[in-house]
Amino acid sequence: MSIGLYIHFPFCSKICPYCDFYVLRESKAKRTAFLSYYEKELKLLSERKQELFSQKLETIYFGGGTPSLLEAGQFAILLKLTKKYFAVFSNAEISLEANPNDLLGNKSEAFHRLGINRLSIGVQSLNENELKALGREHSARQAAEAAQNVRNSGFENFNIDLIFGVPGQTLISWEQTLEKAVKGRPAHISTYSLTIEERTSFYKLQQAGKLQLPPDEICQEMYLRGVEFLEKEGYGQYEISNFARSGFQSRHNRNYWQRKSYLGLGPSAHSFFSNQRWANVRSLPIYQRKLDAGQPPREFEEDIDQRKAIEEALLLGLRQKEGIGLENLKVEFGYDVEKEKGALLNRLAVQNFVQKENGRLRLTPLGFYVSDKIVSELFP
Ligand code: SF4
Repeated sequence: MSIGLYIHFPFCSKICPYCDFYVLRESKAKRTAFLSYYEKELKLLSERKQELFSQKLETIYFGGGTPSLLEAGQFAILLKLTKKYFAVFSNAEISLEANPNDLLGNKSEAFHRLGINRLSIGVQSLNENELKALGREHSARQAAEAAQNVRNSGFENFNIDLIFGVPGQTLISWEQTLEKAVKGRPAHISTYSLTIEERTSFYKLQQAGKLQLPPDEICQEMYLRGVEFLEKEGYGQYEISNFARSGFQSRHNRNYWQRKSYLGLGPSAHSFFSNQRWANVRSLPIYQRKLDAGQPPREFEEDIDQRKAIEEALLLGLRQKEGIGLENLKVEFGYDVEKEKGALLNRLAVQNFVQKENGRLRLTPLGFYVSDKIVSELFP
């Protein structure tokens, strides 16, 4: 059986005002410590959950944080440690999240030589004012240069992350960012709506009435125009926020949405295996203390019962463009969604949020935009 591995590198050179991930300001000492705790966590898990380690890795994903702050030599160590504990498929997808500034020198070439075969670049916008509003450290020119550098280093498979709904953004500036983004010929583009989360500086600004965001109807239009534009440019949508040229969908992320097994290592990382979900603590000091004491650094764990599994299959299935096979749901879970939620689904279809086609239930582009609302209606 195969499994995906996620490694959470919790450091960034600067914390962005909208970021809700578990991240800290980095230092050389912290980076070095990260490597030794990675080994500690692997070792402890291999002693306590042996069945995990008979799985072969289909994907490895270095996320964060900004893992591209690590040197190539440090990745060589992380990959070597990973291969000490796991067998890895020869065609495994090995992804790394990177900030443009880290890709301006010769790092991307070194990453490629190590066997990392997919980069996800945190570009966010190709408009200077919007980058400033987002508190990013790179310029639009540097982002474009980084994409070029990545391509020249041999990466055909790279993603660009973009954000819409940014303070000061207009429909025109969003379209200009999209047009510039496709010129860099990435294999994959993700477009995320800026959401204001409680733990962030943007939240405080919003509470104080000091954050001016584009109105929701403009954000909705940005999303819909993004979908239309990217599809026209050959980037097929396969998930709410994800678009790829043929053959370049993210295997790692697809596995999440298809409820396949994955293991997350590092503080705040989540795992799903054998009908159990668990998450590591969202605190580096506690994570380290627990590992030092020989304890799994877990914050919570839960068994997924039948009801929860149905809910997950529906929620994750609806995130994807292909939607959910209604017959599959009946065979796998004995659940007939049309019988259980028929009246609600009919109403959502009239509102142009969902559609049923060839035995599959899926969200429309408009439905994708309001998917959170739909989900809370399906599972109040
Ligand atoms: S670089 Fe990414 S992970 Fe780091 S603070 Fe900014 S948004 Fe968060």
